[in-house]
Amino acid sequence: MTVSIWQADDTQPVRDVDVLVVGAGLVGCGAAYFAAREHGREVVITEMRDLGLGTSSRNAGFMITGLDAYYHQSVARYGLAVTREMWGISQTAHRHWHHFIEGSGGQVRLNRCGSMLLAESADEALDLEEAARMLDSEGFEFEFIPGDPLGRGYHAALRQPVDCAVHPLELARAVFAQSGAELIPNNELYRIENGEDDTVRVYTRQFIFRARYVLLCTNAFSTSIDPYFIGKVIPTRAQCLVTAPLKTGPVLGTIGYSDYGYKYYRDTFDGRLLIGGGRKQNKILENDTTDDRVTDPVQRHLDHYLRTRFPEIDAPVERRWAGIMGFSADGLPLVGTLPGRPRVGFAVAFHGHGLAMGAAVAERAVDHLLKGTHPGAVYAGRMD
Ligand SMILES: Cc1cc2nc3c(=O)[nH]c(=O)nc-3n(C[C@H](O)[C@H](O)[C@H](O)COP(=O)(O)OP(=O)(O)OC[C@H]3O[C@@H](n4cnc5c(N)ncnc54)[C@H](O)[C@@H]3O)c2cc1C
Repeated sequence: MTVSIWQADDTQPVRDVDVLVVGAGLVGCGAAYFAAREHGREVVITEMRDLGLGTSSRNAGFMITGLDAYYHQSVARYGLAVTREMWGISQTAHRHWHHFIEGSGGQVRLNRCGSMLLAESADEALDLEEAARMLDSEGFEFEFIPGDPLGRGYHAALRQPVDCAVHPLELARAVFAQSGAELIPNNELYRIENGEDDTVRVYTRQFIFRARYVLLCTNAFSTSIDPYFIGKVIPTRAQCLVTAPLKTGPVLGTIGYSDYGYKYYRDTFDGRLLIGGGRKQNKILENDTTDDRVTDPVQRHLDHYLRTRFPEIDAPVERRWAGIMGFSADGLPLVGTLPGRPRVGFAVAFHGHGLAMGAAVAERAVDHLLKGTHPGAVYAGRMD
C-alpha cells in the first residue's frame, strides 16, 4: 500500500506512543496483548483496513499443529531440534488461542473436532506413515489410520485429536478485546525513520507517531513497508470456496488437510462445506502477488475437488474468496528488528500457518523487541 502526497503530505498531527503495533491481524492483536499485559506497556495498533480484515479473516480457520510440512519432512529440512522447537511453538500458540477463547465469554466459535491429515495418493500414505513413526517416537498424541476413514477415496489418515476449527475473525476480535490496546483503523503506514531521543517516527496517513518501539505485524504486506523483506517474505495467494448450507448437516466432522497441505476442507458453523487450496497446479499465477481476486484455474480446481470427493453434495457454491499468505523463503516465520533500527521489530511470514503458530511467535517477537531475548528458530538473522 502506497500513500500519495494528496492523501498525506507529512503535516499530520504528531502523537507520542509507547509501543506501536502495525497490523491488527491475529498476530498484531496477539503482540499487542503480550506487550500490554505481560510487559505493562501502553499499546496503540495502527491498521490500514480494520480489525482482522487482512488475511486473518480470509483463512480456513484451522488450528492445526505444526508446520506445513509433515513431521519427518520438517526434520529432513530443518533438523530435529528446530522441528521440535516449531512443534512446541505451535502447541504454545494453541494454548494462547484457547486462553483468549475462554476469556471471550463465548464470543468465539470453536469446534474441537481434531484434524485429519489425509493421503491423496499411495506415496502420500507412505509419508503419513513415516510422519506417524516420528510423532510416536516424540510422544505426540495422534492416531495413524492405514485405510480411508472418510470413505471418500483417501489412502490413509493421521488424526490429530487436539486440533480445532475456529472462527478466525471472532478470534482476532477476542484477542484485541483482551489486549487493552487502542486501535486506529483506516490508517496505513507509509514511512519509518529513526527519530530523536531513542524514538521512531512512523508516518501514517492520519498521524505521525513518535514511538518508543514499533512492531510490524504486517505479514504478506511487509515488502511494501521496508525493502529488507524483499526476497524474505513472498506474498502468495490462497483461495477458498464455500457451499450453501447443506440439508444433510456437516459432512466431515473434522478438518481435513491433504495433498501435503495443498487442499483443505471443513464444515462451517452454519453447516456449509468449505474447500481451499488448488495452488499447487497454478503456482505461476498464485505466487508473488498481493492481488486478492479469485482466479478461474484455481476455482475450477476446487469445483472439481468438490464434485469428485463430495459427489453427494448438490448445494451450490455460494461464496469464493482469496487472501494473501506471507510465505518465507525457508518456510519458517521471521522475528527480528530492522537493520539499523533496533526499536523496530517484526513478526511476519507465517507461511499459511498463522493460526498454527501466530500467538507464540508474536510473544517471542515482543520479548525480543522489549527485552532482547533470542527468538530461537524463528530468528530472522538466520537469513543474513
Ligand atoms: C485462503 C487462506 C487459508 C488459510 N488457512 C489457514 C488455516 O486454516 N490455518 C492457519 O493457521 N493459517 C491459514 N492461513 C494463513 C493465515 O490466515 C495467516 O497466517 C494469518 O492470518 C497471519 O496473520 P497476520 O496477523 O500475520 O496477518 P494479517 O491478518 O494479514 O494481518 C496483517 C495486517 O497488517 C495490515 N497492514 C499491512 N500493511 C499495512 C500498512 N502499511 N499500514 C497499516 N496496516 C497494514 C493489514 O491490513 C492486515 O490487517 C490461510 C490463509 C489464506 C489466504
